[in-house]
Amino acid sequence: MKKFDVIIIGGGHNGLVASSYLAKKGKKVLVIEKNEHVGGLAEYANSLNFISPIIKKELNINIHNIKDTDYIISLEDNQNHTILEDKNGKLSFVKTNADENDQKTFLSIINNYKLFSKTLGSFMYQKPPRVKSGKRSDLFQLMSMGWKIRKLGKKNMRELLRVIGLNIADDLEDNLNNDNLKGLLSHESVLGSNLGPRSPGSILTLLYKQAINDNIFNLKKIEVTNYINQLEDCCKKNTVEIIKSSEVRKIITKNNSVTGIQLNNNEVIESKCVMSNADPKTTYLNLLGAEILDTDFIRRIKNFRNKGNVAKLELVLENEINIKNIDKKMYGKFIYAPNIKYIEHAFNANKYNHYSKNPCLEFYVNDNTLSANIYYVPYLINASHQENEIIEKCVAVLSKFIPDMKIRKQELITPNQMEEKYNISGGHWHHGDLEIDQLLMMRPFYGSSQYSTPVNGLYLCSAGTHPGGGLTGINGLNAAKKIIEDSK
Ligand SMILES: Cc1cc2nc3c(=O)[nH]c(=O)nc-3n(C[C@H](O)[C@H](O)[C@H](O)COP(=O)(O)OP(=O)(O)OC[C@H]3O[C@@H](n4cnc5c(N)ncnc54)[C@H](O)[C@@H]3O)c2cc1C
Repeated sequence: MKKFDVIIIGGGHNGLVASSYLAKKGKKVLVIEKNEHVGGLAEYANSLNFISPIIKKELNINIHNIKDTDYIISLEDNQNHTILEDKNGKLSFVKTNADENDQKTFLSIINNYKLFSKTLGSFMYQKPPRVKSGKRSDLFQLMSMGWKIRKLGKKNMRELLRVIGLNIADDLEDNLNNDNLKGLLSHESVLGSNLGPRSPGSILTLLYKQAINDNIFNLKKIEVTNYINQLEDCCKKNTVEIIKSSEVRKIITKNNSVTGIQLNNNEVIESKCVMSNADPKTTYLNLLGAEILDTDFIRRIKNFRNKGNVAKLELVLENEINIKNIDKKMYGKFIYAPNIKYIEHAFNANKYNHYSKNPCLEFYVNDNTLSANIYYVPYLINASHQENEIIEKCVAVLSKFIPDMKIRKQELITPNQMEEKYNISGGHWHHGDLEIDQLLMMRPFYGSSQYSTPVNGLYLCSAGTHPGGGLTGINGLNAAKKIIEDSK
């Protein structure tokens, strides 16, 4: 029987990053992926603005931007859309009905947020410190986090501490008049989260995402499929074995230590080290089993919030798609979240587990195809969505901007379907909410941060760990480094 130093459950992008790194460090690694292809939820991602230089360097990934200039189009019912140009990260207005004062304020809010997110960005690439460990390294890291915030200067530090718990609506309403601009920034702060613009902490999620994407807008500057292909190639080059279309049923343990995994076909593969790319709830409750965990720990797992609320809509039309009142050269990321009130109303439905009858949309078009993220479409327990109804509502929004829509093919993928395909409990974009009590050393929750678990030899590397979701690969890299550190 073959033996491996490390078995990785799942070939999502974090699993691929972790396995390549471990193999480069001389470990014999096996990846087991449930689906016939690797990449996991990256299948649904349209935008990839940035790949961390650390990931590129560690894995020798040679990937180029498909474009340096991109456009963000915030759609308005009256067709007076706002168009912003992003040129190498520098934003400017191409067209807007906001007055000059608002335009200036909008760009200065973004610059302010950029400053704060840079400070947070420096925490993203390291494993978070453990608060009560008593270790010098953790203490040093905590002090350095404090020092980085202090280095902002008194005024900026106070401002950061003020806004961190605030809701985005309050900050925007205090400073801007134009509804469309307020809707645009609110959209970026709530997409993929269980927050509305008036929910406390919605600024923090925006700063956090900005820190990860190196931009307030996550744009399509790098091809996602190319990135996933390169990660898979990197695994192959480093002799990682990947088994596809095979599902892990159980993580096997003895005396609180991992001894291997069991596949759905009952085959057992031995290893003293298993890393799970599945989300934390699935890993602990389904793959490991609650029986070996203590009651308080199980309570914390169950309290981890992971209700997904973004659905994916793919449309193929009979004809090439033309968006009213926009030059084709400026087609980029389209957003329909016209004002704070509209988004907040859409969020209200989510609170009661209903889909929003007037949804918010973010979409890209290519020739006659359209790919959209729709929110809020909540994950449902013991119920299913009326998919055709949701598609109808989305088409009603889209037809305000795309005249004469003749649909040839349509597909809606709800959070429930994402859960079924990828075993992501709750079908959540980030495998769990990115909120203040589920971030940094509290991610996924106290007692399970820093990628390790209470079971010897079991590690986590998914978006449910620090620093959260998106295609950063940082979770995978940090978790792999933790295994190397522990094996020394
Ligand atoms: C609709 C949608 C749109 C998104 N758009 C973007 C975007 O534009 N830009 C962006 O940066 N991010 C986007 N994201 C977020 C991003 O895709 C995810 O955060 C990221 O892909 C998570 O990666 P991961 O490797 O941690 O986990 P996953 O991608 O979830 O990978 C986990 C893998 O484990 C496998 N697995 C689970 N259980 C088992 C088992 N028992 N046995 C074997 N295999 C198993 C799954 O099949 C899966 O392949 C989007 C997410 C969604 C849902």
